Formats: sequence, C-alpha cells, structure tokens
Amino acid sequence: MINKNIVFLSGGTGTPKLLKDGIKLFDEQKVTIIGNTGDDWNFYGLYVSPDIDSVLLTLSNLIDTKKWWGIYQDSFNLIDFLQNKLREQIWFNLGDQDAALCLLRTNLLNHGKNLTEVTEILCKKLSIIPQILPMADQRIQTRIRTPTKIMHLQEFWVKYKGKPDVINVFFDGDLRVTTLSVLEAIEKADVIILGPSNPVSSIGPILAINPIRKALQSTAAFCAAISPIIGTDAVSGPTGKFLRAWGKEITPLTLVEMYQDFLDLCIIHETDKSLLENFSSYETIGIAENILINSPENAMHLIKRIMEYC
Ligand code: GDP
Repeated sequence: MINKNIVFLSGGTGTPKLLKDGIKLFDEQKVTIIGNTGDDWNFYGLYVSPDIDSVLLTLSNLIDTKKWWGIYQDSFNLIDFLQNKLREQIWFNLGDQDAALCLLRTNLLNHGKNLTEVTEILCKKLSIIPQILPMADQRIQTRIRTPTKIMHLQEFWVKYKGKPDVINVFFDGDLRVTTLSVLEAIEKADVIILGPSNPVSSIGPILAINPIRKALQSTAAFCAAISPIIGTDAVSGPTGKFLRAWGKEITPLTLVEMYQDFLDLCIIHETDKSLLENFSSYETIGIAENILINSPENAMHLIKRIMEYC
C-alpha cells in the first residue's frame, strides 16, 4: 500500500474512472479528491452537483459505470411522473435514488451547512473513507457562450446534446477564495494527480480559483496529469470543442502548456509517443502509456507509473 498524502483533482468521468480501482493502491485515509463544482445545477430546487456526485457514487461503488453518472440500476419514476403525468418539459435526467442524495444535500444546505460540510456528511453516510472536497463553498458557475445565448454546461451538454458552436467558456463567481481544507490538502500533499478530466470545464474551474493555482505553483508535492486527449481528439465529451473556443490546439501537448507552471509529469497515450521529443521545451517529464482506462489493472498501472517518478 502506498502510504503518502495524495490529492486528485477531478471532474465527473475520466478521473472517477481512474479512482474506481486506482484508489485501492493507497491508504484511503490519506487520499483527498478536490472536485469541480462549476457544473452544479438547481433542478426543481434540488441541488445537483454532477461531478462531486460521480466521485461520491464511484467511491461508494454505486456508480453506473456505463454512463459514469447516476446509480447503477436506479429507477426514473420521479422524472417519468413529472414529464408524463404533470406534463413538465424535462430534459435533465436524474434517477430516483440519485434524487434522494440531492434531496439530502439540499436539505442540509437549507439548514445552514456549507458545501464542504455537506459533502463530508454524505461521505460518512456512504462509508467513504477518502476526503472529498468541493473546490469552493461559494457558487462558481461554468458558462458556455454560444452564438445565440450564454448557457449552463448542463443545458449545453444535456439539452442541446453539445451541438451548438462554442464561442467561449467562462467562470462566473468569486474566484478569489477557496476553502481552508482545499489549501491544507494541497499543502500537505506528497503527490497531486490531475486525472484525465476536461481541462476546460472540469479542471479549468478548479485552476481558475486563484488561491488553488497559487498553492499548486508553490507546493512541494509532485504534480502529475493524465491526458484526456489522444491524438487530435478527446477520449469523450466536449473537451475538443471547449479547447478550440479557448484558442487551443487539441493535442496532449496543450495540457502540458496549460499546466506548465506546476506540472512535473504528464502521461500521454502510447500512440502519441512521437510527441515526447517536444517535452524538452517544458520542465515536465513525458511518458507514454495506454491511457484508455478500461480495466482495473490499467487504472492501477497508470497510478503505479506516476508513483515511480515521484
Ligand atoms: P465530465 O465532468 O463528465 O466532463 O468528466 P471529466 O471532465 O472528469 O471527464 C471527461 C474527460 O475524460 C474527457 O476529456 C475525456 O476525453 C476523458 N476521458 C474519458 N474516459 C477516459 C479514459 O478512459 N482515458 C482517458 N485518458 N481519458 C478519458
């Protein structure tokens, strides 16, 4: 077992895939996951936190690993009733048990707890040992600017199926503050792993919070990232479209460029091996591996490779 203080920065798909089995290598008491809350969403008064929820459900073994959101074999009676009996126009999906989790979160928030405290309570109730920390307690929202309107990420991805052109992705909220818990976790960390999550809409909001970026720049921890991009495409999701909106090329090297102020190691895909020669212009080590996370062994192998270097 690896007995070090480990911090993961996570979105809702790529990093949970890595965490599901990768976490077994660590003393889980020493693992902290800092989750993106830029996608948090109010659904009929329910506080939904898609990325934090994916991490919570992954670490409690409840996640539907086909979709990487929601609970395995959940029912959808609530949505059905709203849509078919009450004739509401619903485009957002939320399973019944998933809704129960959000109901509890909302209730705790309404009783004055902050997001960090609420997430800690949910972890306890779900018997999750690692610490899961929202990137901030205040509301920071990821906004997608399209030619016709500015929309919430959920609206762009779920309602419009990621089809509109994207002019910009930006973050709305106070980016000057994070929580003490987040800063302490980064400060105490031996290793910080940026999982293969969307660099714009998942890792982007976390790094946009000034004190988090500064803490990463000054930490003594070894910082490693796994690319969510293979060749000139993201493995899944709107990463390519969002990077283009930020004027970035879709290549694993873009990650190194975006994180170069703190990144020590970047794992790219084995078919991108030829890009390793470009790493000499950065202070980041590059290695090539199979970064498609499709088995427990492969997730663990990627973690082991990072640990060999730190
Ligand atoms: P979101 O919150 O649902 O957008 O999820 P994340 O940001 O955590 O994950 C989406 C990113 O994960 C996308 O950029 C994908 O390219 C990447 N991704 C998904 N599956 C894999 C995988 O198996 N391996 C790697 N390397 N990246 C992946």
